[in-house]
Amino acid sequence: MTTKTDKILIFDTTLRDGEQCPGATLNIDEKLVIAKQLARLGVDIIEAGFAFASPGDFEAVSKIAEIVGTENGPVICSLARAIKADIEAAAKALKPAVKSRIHTFISTSDIHLEYQLRKSRAEVLAIAQEMVAYAKSFVTDVEFSPMDAARSDSEFLYQVLEAAIAAGATTVNIPDTVGYTTPSEFGAMIKGIKENVPNIDQAIISVHGHNDLGLAVANFLEAVKNGARQLECTINGIGERAGNASLEELVMALHVRRQYFNPYLGRPEESQESLTNIDTREIYRTSRLVSNLTGMLVQPNKAIVGANAFAHESGIHQDGVLKNKLTYEIMDAQLIGLTDNQIVLGKHSGRNAFRTRLKELGFELSDSELNKAFVRFKEIADKKKEISDRDLEAIVNDEIQQAPDLFRVELVQVSCGSNARPTATVTLRTPEGEELTDAAIGTGPVDAVYKAINRVVNVPNELIEFSVQSVTAGIDAIGEVTIRLRYESRVFSGHAANTDIIVASAQAYVNALNRLYASLQSQEKPEGVSAQRV
Ligand code: MN
Repeated sequence: MTTKTDKILIFDTTLRDGEQCPGATLNIDEKLVIAKQLARLGVDIIEAGFAFASPGDFEAVSKIAEIVGTENGPVICSLARAIKADIEAAAKALKPAVKSRIHTFISTSDIHLEYQLRKSRAEVLAIAQEMVAYAKSFVTDVEFSPMDAARSDSEFLYQVLEAAIAAGATTVNIPDTVGYTTPSEFGAMIKGIKENVPNIDQAIISVHGHNDLGLAVANFLEAVKNGARQLECTINGIGERAGNASLEELVMALHVRRQYFNPYLGRPEESQESLTNIDTREIYRTSRLVSNLTGMLVQPNKAIVGANAFAHESGIHQDGVLKNKLTYEIMDAQLIGLTDNQIVLGKHSGRNAFRTRLKELGFELSDSELNKAFVRFKEIADKKKEISDRDLEAIVNDEIQQAPDLFRVELVQVSCGSNARPTATVTLRTPEGEELTDAAIGTGPVDAVYKAINRVVNVPNELIEFSVQSVTAGIDAIGEVTIRLRYESRVFSGHAANTDIIVASAQAYVNALNRLYASLQSQEKPEGVSAQRV
């Protein structure tokens, strides 16, 4: 591991910090699919989880280390508090990875020291040093974060960083844990660290930040100008509260404005060389995948990946854009992998064409997954003449979503209309293989279906979000349904795609119930572990 980099390193924490937000909980298969896509996207480091937090987290980190942490793959990282047991769990889970990193942290702000840790500054300094050295005994690549750095006394912060680097930290990460700083303050903080930590040239400076004031990306860009060379971010900016800095916004800002940033990296202004290792054409697909699997919808006006981000092509600027794209466009939609909806397949397309196109889109499915997806494809091709790439992605994401396959929708039948009482009949196959049928009346067809499902599954829950979106334009489009439901204090999401939105609604609901059901069966995270976060 070198501490010199001529690029800005992208550290993706979608699977750790991103997954901490309510309702974004992913199962191991889903985490693995996202990790594989992050590797295709070209992120330098994947923070795969917090190995000590639960057996499920441990297994996810370990699986990702094994399958994605290959020779040419990204560095796989696990978070660990500055506690021996945490560091040991991280080291053990990361073992299968070719390149692995332990990311350990402890708070350095007086308010956290006094109320959370109940330790003196001298004690914290000693722990940081000792635990970085301990992590270093397992891996060469160690990242250290002084939690709540933005609210820490700067002299003490410099001391802790110097001690951590002396003990072997190769990356020091400066978090704005509570999302409070402004760009100029954050830039000045990085500058202060660069000037006042004597051994700072032996480590890469990283930044981590939250978007409570909508400033995370702006803060990071200012940090880059002042010497930060690693950015910790998430796809679609998901994360606790208002989320983390968004990967796609950072990467595209550094790409579109590279001439502005070049001098800060010691490059000639006109250099066209890219500032990150990201393959920007994978951005859109990654965004869709994360949105579908987490159930966290992307707002239409979201920069870069929102549905309207490039929509001006068909709006008032159309004339100018047609004459010369650059009149109103600062970037080409193709740069993020958004292509026009090419019609690629139809009902006469065979399994080979289907497999080949999926491969070109970056999906590698097992034989049984391919078979299941192909059956779905044929069903949809019967109803919808033209199957676009986005439809294919919806089909495949939907198939991936089926796990955990506990309850399965076997039949949905609805009768409704202006003079009818919406009535639904539903048949579900239970985890034990039994087929159960029930019926209910509702205020509308979806309500009736959900009530009928509830009569079968019988787990009390509250539906808190329901949304339908069409994958492509046209009356025969596939509808994607995303729902979130609450059980006690926890939120579970579900997602499904179908040309029939009532069927998609039923599947999305059962999908969320399956997650709820699976989590009731698996072990819960121990209290207190998830309370401490970077
Ligand atoms: Mn965080």
